[in-house]
Amino acid sequence: MNFYDSERITDLLKPHGYKLDDNEDDADLIVLNTCHIREKAVEKTYSELGRIRDKINTRKEKTGKISIVAVAGCVAQAQGQEIIKRSPWVDIVVGPQSYQNLPELIAKLDTNNKYKNIDIDFPTIPKFDQLNDNIEERGPSAFLTIQEGCDKFCSFCVVPYTRGAEYSRPLKSILDEANKLIDVGVKEITLLGQNVNAWNSKGLDNQNWSLGRLIDELAKINELKFIRYTTSHPLDMDIELIKSHRDNKKLMPYLHLPIQSGSDNILKMMNRKHTAKEYLEIIEKVRDYNPKIAISGDFIVGFPGETEKDHMSTLSLIKQVNYAQAYSFKYSKRPGTPGSVFLNHVNEDTKKTRLYEVQELLRSQQLSFNKKTINSIMKVLVLKKGKKKNQYIGRSPFNQSVYFSYNSKNKNLIGSFIDLNITEAFQNSLKGNIVSNF
Ligand code: SAH
Ligand code: SF4
Repeated sequence: MNFYDSERITDLLKPHGYKLDDNEDDADLIVLNTCHIREKAVEKTYSELGRIRDKINTRKEKTGKISIVAVAGCVAQAQGQEIIKRSPWVDIVVGPQSYQNLPELIAKLDTNNKYKNIDIDFPTIPKFDQLNDNIEERGPSAFLTIQEGCDKFCSFCVVPYTRGAEYSRPLKSILDEANKLIDVGVKEITLLGQNVNAWNSKGLDNQNWSLGRLIDELAKINELKFIRYTTSHPLDMDIELIKSHRDNKKLMPYLHLPIQSGSDNILKMMNRKHTAKEYLEIIEKVRDYNPKIAISGDFIVGFPGETEKDHMSTLSLIKQVNYAQAYSFKYSKRPGTPGSVFLNHVNEDTKKTRLYEVQELLRSQQLSFNKKTINSIMKVLVLKKGKKKNQYIGRSPFNQSVYFSYNSKNKNLIGSFIDLNITEAFQNSLKGNIVSNF
């Protein structure tokens, strides 16, 4: 979602004379967009700000030019004034629900940098209504935020405090943005939300639509070929969405459905409001409707009070699901969350060992999922050039990176759909040969 927000910030600033530059050394404005989900993000923000201070000082010494520094995102939201206190060279602090105000905040800055601008309000007019519709550049694949914030308050998580209350973007605004993305050559859209499948809004027939209906509507856009969505919550996995995985050929066979822990005790302490059995039943149903679907998830090890038995339940659940891919993290204490004041924190060494065990198991499942694709033919969207000569990288329907070679000076394949015969499979990627004529 931060990637999406950064793109929208770029879109927003273009009419004000800014253009994106890869190089910070001569930038008039540096926006550091931050994430607060785990503890390291805060430390990283301050160390990045130290690096940025050196860059802007060097630029000032060499050229006399002053750079503006803005900190955006959830660390900005959570730390607010503290950022300016600790890093006084920062000019603007702006939260994830108020970055639409950046042009104004920049314009209001005192040229001598005497005043700072902080905007971490949750506005009454949704951000999306105030963003401009200036979308000029995207690759073949783009993100589109349809839902933001969360009302679920899992006891480990900062999202409800930093991104605010659950909000679904209206249908029309989503369709308009999707069409704009298509106009600039996008072929694949990933719909985004903290709980993307909680999205609901009034549909074209004035009935309440959920994510499955939205995806079916988007699929009517001819030039849009692949549709994805992330991240889903088990409690919002309704039958309409599950059916779309069977009936909608543009919806990719990939479901990211985090559970966090396989132990009912821990799920309860996490305030997840469902059991491991209920989660497994959802997975079974999804597979009934689409047996080939790749299942992904998130796991937190070492949540306060997690025993060896709880950890074993997580390993056992992973074995039962057999994931195609998944993310796993050590529990990180977040200020202001109920989990942070739980007393029985798990020690760091135990967390490390448990993370290793979870990751080893997930790694072996991912490798065997990838290996099963050898000798199959897959339609891949070509995303970019690889590091090697004549090499391209695409993404498979199952969200795997696929490498292949194509030797032509006259033809650029980026943005094309190519049928590849998969010849080799590795931990994080596949290799294939072209079989299609194009
Ligand atoms: N809404 C989604 C997840 C959003 S947060 C859901 O409920 O499943 C993305 C992921 O970050 C989570 O799935 C979780 O695995 C991880 N995460 C969030 N807070 C964390 C914390 N305090 N410590 C470790 N990992 C955390
Ligand atoms: Fe955080 Fe997801 Fe729980 Fe919401 S549902 S509080 S985003 S982990």
